[in-house]
Amino acid sequence: FNHQLQRTEKLEFVSELAASIAHEVRNPLQVTRGFLQLISARSNEVNKTHFSMAINELDRASMIITDFLTFAKPELDSIVALNLKEELTTVETIMSPLAAINGAVFQVKVPDQLHILGNPSKFKQAFMNIIKNSIEALQDNGIIEIDAKEENSMAVIRIADNGEGMEKEQVARLGEPYFSTKTKGTGLGLMVTFRIIEVMNGTLEFRSEKGKGTEAWIRFPLTHPN
Ligand code: ADP
Ligand code: MG
Repeated sequence: FNHQLQRTEKLEFVSELAASIAHEVRNPLQVTRGFLQLISARSNEVNKTHFSMAINELDRASMIITDFLTFAKPELDSIVALNLKEELTTVETIMSPLAAINGAVFQVKVPDQLHILGNPSKFKQAFMNIIKNSIEALQDNGIIEIDAKEENSMAVIRIADNGEGMEKEQVARLGEPYFSTKTKGTGLGLMVTFRIIEVMNGTLEFRSEKGKGTEAWIRFPLTHPN
């Protein structure tokens, strides 16, 4: 048992360390990308091709960080009472530019006083990954609904999109590492999301219909605010 505990602590430590490093690495990647674009604009065609390959590779590195690691510096893994309305509204704000680029709109209906226990950065990471997938699945007139309610002392959150949807076989593979149907996917987003929700004593289920859309259902035990 002791041995197991130590192993878990070590894993926690490594994942915290990875998240901090990722946070620090993201900025230099962005700066480098900016300079490459600048030089590329003043280069001949052959060099432009090479610069564009370099920029693509940098983007791939950034994408892995975005999908896999907490978007903000973790606050020493603190667990606090989270107000679902506040947290989900913040996630909506963070994701709005990406939604706008893809012509999608959000419809958010979350009651004021639902609280759960968790780490705010990890919560945001989990929901950003789910919503990013919804945005990427959208076709024309994309709508993403975010709603929440209380049911049997649980907070129940639903993220629904009217995107391309999935076949049964696809739904069964969600959360599997490196499972992706996208040309530029990492297949890491939902693996991380399932893990975060599990650690927060929650559950995540998907319902989807090909050509119609997808719903993610997330359940957490409710808590009282301090
Ligand atoms: P990635 O987004 O990098 O492909 P994810 O783990 O985030 O990796 O998602 C895995 C796969 O699950 C996606 O490639 C896609 O096929 C499918 N998927 C997830 N969410 C949705 C959704 N809302 N609509 C349609 N397909 C989805
Ligand atoms: Mg994804």
